[in-house]
Amino acid sequence: MHTKTITELALGLRQREYSSVELTQYFLERIAKYDNQLNSFITVTNDSALAEAAVADKHLAAGEANILTGIPLAHKDLFCTNGVKTSCGSKMLDNFIAPYDATVVEKCKAAGMVMLGKTNMDEFAMGSSNETSFYGPVKNPWDINTVPGGSSGGSSSAVAASLTPIATGTDTGGSIRQPSALCGVTGLKPTYGSVSRYGMIAFASSLDQGGPIGHNAEDVALLLNVMSGFDKRDSTSIEQTPPDYTANLTKSIKGLKIGLIKEHFNDGLDAKVSKVLDKSIKELEQAGAIFQEISLPHSHLSVPIYYIIALGECSSNLSRYDGVRFGHRCADPQDLLDLYKRSRAEGFGAEVKRRIMLGTYVLSAGYYDAYYLKAQQIRRLISEDFKAAFNQVDVILGPTTPTTAFAIGAKMDDPITMYLSDIYTIACNLAGLPAMSIPAGFADNMPVGLHLVGNYLDEARILNIAHQYQQITDWHKQNPVGFD
Ligand code: GLN
Repeated sequence: MHTKTITELALGLRQREYSSVELTQYFLERIAKYDNQLNSFITVTNDSALAEAAVADKHLAAGEANILTGIPLAHKDLFCTNGVKTSCGSKMLDNFIAPYDATVVEKCKAAGMVMLGKTNMDEFAMGSSNETSFYGPVKNPWDINTVPGGSSGGSSSAVAASLTPIATGTDTGGSIRQPSALCGVTGLKPTYGSVSRYGMIAFASSLDQGGPIGHNAEDVALLLNVMSGFDKRDSTSIEQTPPDYTANLTKSIKGLKIGLIKEHFNDGLDAKVSKVLDKSIKELEQAGAIFQEISLPHSHLSVPIYYIIALGECSSNLSRYDGVRFGHRCADPQDLLDLYKRSRAEGFGAEVKRRIMLGTYVLSAGYYDAYYLKAQQIRRLISEDFKAAFNQVDVILGPTTPTTAFAIGAKMDDPITMYLSDIYTIACNLAGLPAMSIPAGFADNMPVGLHLVGNYLDEARILNIAHQYQQITDWHKQNPVGFD
């Protein structure tokens, strides 16, 4: 049952092979059985899940259901969920019960989906390995001594081990795609502004974007249909009706022009990962795609630029955690300043503190022009690089990550090396472009991700390529041993 696609699960519900309550129970039992090994959930909402499933069953019986009605999912613990703890992976919000639903959560509910729980994540989505979570590291089901990637590592690990059919994630610099790659699942970061950020706890507002993580492109397209759309409560939401993302999946990719990023196939890329991608390129070529080399000349600047912009924005966004309105409050404050200082000192973890300090520095008078302003100028050059590339090709392809999953603890003492895990994904956030990672094979038995980048609002095209690739390969159908 757990290896079924969403379309198959939906069919089973309609054919009365099982009810949504039974389906939900089944996944809750899998979580109970396996998540002690993975730590991919922070909260499991057993009771409300079964209640939601019972309602879904009524709708199904009355013939009032849509394709996702009664299908279970998990939300990254960064989406506010009314009446349910929303921790953002931080001690700061360990006691926070959200008083409202994020738009994404609201939309999934309206579609009749059933929330199994909230997934673990790097603290405030800051990390590439899920080791900065207050709730402990998440494990990669392909090898529990390795990281699942971050920051949506709980979602990608839970999907990879089939503890949930699908999950939501967020991506500020790679946090949907990098963990999807390391866990061998399919994840998509939409065009900036396609999915509402209302109720998504902010890390870096000009980069953050929610998106789906699932087993395959079709499942991801189905959830994206629900998640996306204009929201007047998000001032950066794009004012237009999104297309049906499943509409193009079955189109032939014959004649499609795919650009290979020269700068991403170099020494920094692990030779075994590179070999896997060479094979994928050949397979896509056989399916009719035409490859050509392209250049993104400023791509080497994307990591340093990101770590100025994202940190500047996070220092501002996280100033709201002051121990007064919500979140952790220190005991017995002496005065207001003591309350601020100790609440923040106690509530935030080391990585978050590092970023707030650096971010405050780059935004400070005297340094703003040298760092933040300069970074914004280079951000524009990075977008221009993509614009030029998309004049030559329809889609861009490369590796999602330079290596496969690394050992837990391997990079925690070396933030710069950790930051380089997102070297291939970050530029898309800076430019606001849609991109996805799909399973492309294995290197030393660990999953390798293939990265597809589309032009603005061209999600349907990258989903089309992903789906076509998944018709000729079965990497996305492989399951980690021990989670049967
Ligand atoms: N790993 C990157 C960071 O730590 C990206 C995180 C994200 O996309 N949320 O900032």
